[in-house]
Amino acid sequence: MGLCTAYYLNQSGFEVTIINEGDSEGKSSCSWGNAGMIVPGHIIPLASPGVFKKGLKWLLAPESPFSIEFKPTLNLISWLWKFRKAANPNHVKAGANTLRALGLESRSLYLELGKKMDFGLENKGIMMLCKQEEILAEEYEISAMARALGIEAVDLDQTDIQSVEIDMKSNALGGVHYPLDCHINPARFLQLMQKFLVDQGVNIVYESLVSGFSVHHGKIKSVLVEDQSWSADYFVLAAGRMSGNLVKSIGLKLPMMGGKGYSVTIKSPIQKPAIPALLIDARIASTPMEDQWRIGGTMTITESNKNINERKLNAMFKSVQNYYPDFDLAWVKNLEPWVGLRPLSADGLPYIGPFGQYPNLIGATGHAMLGISLAPITGQLVNHIISGNDPGVDMSMLSPDRF
Ligand SMILES: Cc1cc2nc3c(=O)[nH]c(=O)nc-3n(C[C@H](O)[C@H](O)[C@H](O)COP(=O)(O)OP(=O)(O)OC[C@H]3O[C@@H](n4cnc5c(N)ncnc54)[C@H](O)[C@@H]3O)c2cc1C
Repeated sequence: MGLCTAYYLNQSGFEVTIINEGDSEGKSSCSWGNAGMIVPGHIIPLASPGVFKKGLKWLLAPESPFSIEFKPTLNLISWLWKFRKAANPNHVKAGANTLRALGLESRSLYLELGKKMDFGLENKGIMMLCKQEEILAEEYEISAMARALGIEAVDLDQTDIQSVEIDMKSNALGGVHYPLDCHINPARFLQLMQKFLVDQGVNIVYESLVSGFSVHHGKIKSVLVEDQSWSADYFVLAAGRMSGNLVKSIGLKLPMMGGKGYSVTIKSPIQKPAIPALLIDARIASTPMEDQWRIGGTMTITESNKNINERKLNAMFKSVQNYYPDFDLAWVKNLEPWVGLRPLSADGLPYIGPFGQYPNLIGATGHAMLGISLAPITGQLVNHIISGNDPGVDMSMLSPDRF
């Protein structure tokens, strides 16, 4: 979010400094090892009745893709309460419209960026694959909703899937192909974007933890980094999972939890699928990424714990084998998993826009499972806000003040 925001602000002629706790590789951020999927077809916000119902069932199963690290902090209880409230049909419908608009525009921006930098953008679409009749029926319902909103979505049966997955056979029962979806190599995107920004004169300060803000007359005056302070006219909050904690010190409430997920990347696999897919029954993302195959999944709601739950990780691999019977568990045996904390807002929609209490502080965070998809449009919207232009979309559902 920070890099894309800097990109569009720089293009508009602003002088930009990025202050990052991490290093230039960015492996500790959530944007490094994710599945790289750009999914304008993904229109259902995370907070939805289906997810809530399934989540409750999965909580009881130690090998399920979902869990909550249950330390009953006030933050967790209040977040869960808001999430439950947002998981209703009206919110899903309104959220779908917003996500559709943002997703389509963000995809167009990626196509533009792809002309300047080669970050492995591939336009093969993404398949939602299902193994159970009931889950397939739900996916067909979602695809019908997507088509009604003008998003191309093609329902598939088993033969359709087998006709494209020739190298890595899949025994999925059926699914949906979203031809507009595409994918990138996210780590390369981070690298190329940083290089591009530095070449354009953007100042990136690494290994510098922002610990707070200094405030003057209802405005942010500077951010504090150890014994230094950085002044500016505008500040953009793009600290991923840590964003909520960071603004607490100035009295702002930004409900946020971490959504822990893992990925492993098989370099030059003997076999790999042709088309990226979400293995819906097991909530796994499978991305053939140039000459690699990345598998990612699990969602553990946590404050900030990045420990790996081996049981869930192994269950993830077994689920992949369940979809692709030729998948050999030996391929992943000695691979080091990557861990990321998704920044989870309390209603599944990102926080983008100015804070009422400090109008020169702009939120660009809370994207949950859609941070790669929506990074360019987020940067573009923040640029419009700071430039005083009409953002061209209804921002009310995205306001960081909405809770
Ligand atoms: C397994 C997995 C698969 C995923 N797959 C996809 C996918 O296919 N498509 C998709 O769209 N999304 C996906 N996501 C979600 C996506 O990765 C995130 O939504 C996205 O990376 C969030 O980006 P961000 O910029 O908000 O946060 P981050 O990438 O985490 O960046 C936050 C930055 O803030 C810095 N920071 C934090 N606190 C401070 C501080 N106090 N001072 C200074 N710097 C600070 C950090 O160092 C970091 O660089 C996936 C996530 C996971 C875990």
